[in-house]
Amino acid sequence: MRIVAPPTVPGASPAPSSPAAQADTGGPIARIGPNAIIQSVYVLRDRLGAGEADRLLRRATGYDLAHLPHEMVDEREPLALVRTVMDALGEPQATRVLREAGRHTADYLLAHRIPRPAQWIMRAAPRRVGLALLLRAMAANAWTFAGSATFTVVRARAVTTLSFHDCAMCRGIESAGPMCDFYAGTFEHLTRALVTPRAEVVEVECQAHGGRDCRFEVRGIH
Ligand SMILES: [Zn+2]
Repeated sequence: MRIVAPPTVPGASPAPSSPAAQADTGGPIARIGPNAIIQSVYVLRDRLGAGEADRLLRRATGYDLAHLPHEMVDEREPLALVRTVMDALGEPQATRVLREAGRHTADYLLAHRIPRPAQWIMRAAPRRVGLALLLRAMAANAWTFAGSATFTVVRARAVTTLSFHDCAMCRGIESAGPMCDFYAGTFEHLTRALVTPRAEVVEVECQAHGGRDCRFEVRGIH
């Protein structure tokens, strides 16, 4: 099931400078939907004011509030923003910002990208079936959010796990705890909206916290 069209933001301006066509390795660059940047910056603007949000965005990516990306971005750009926000705000506040940005991203997907009939079917189905449909759609659309990471869904009777190997949102960062709250917030809000409001998505292992992968458990379904 295709539930996510190529990301665009109506009214947004083109990027001020196109990312290099080739990565440092010489291979094609991996891309990620622009919401990881857009929604994070909106949360920063609401919490810190437009001036500080703009300053952090420019420092990390070269975009600014008046020229946000409107197409898939080089995966290194949201990662640079995550790193900058972690450095500037400290991990506890930064992960709260990223969590909220994830929730807003889910709202964006529900409003603009996931067709209403698909949403209706997921909500109407028994929870396990609704979750299965949502997970299948996530896996099919991983190209919009995983970048060069490998996204895997494992469904077991007791627990469902989502994982990234070589996670694009924490690659090269060291943190005191799991920090991929952008993904956790997005997945949790989608699951709450489409499967059950009791759902929780918890990152139980994070590469930035010494894990082999970033691994998220989906709880509250069974
Ligand atoms: Zn992680």
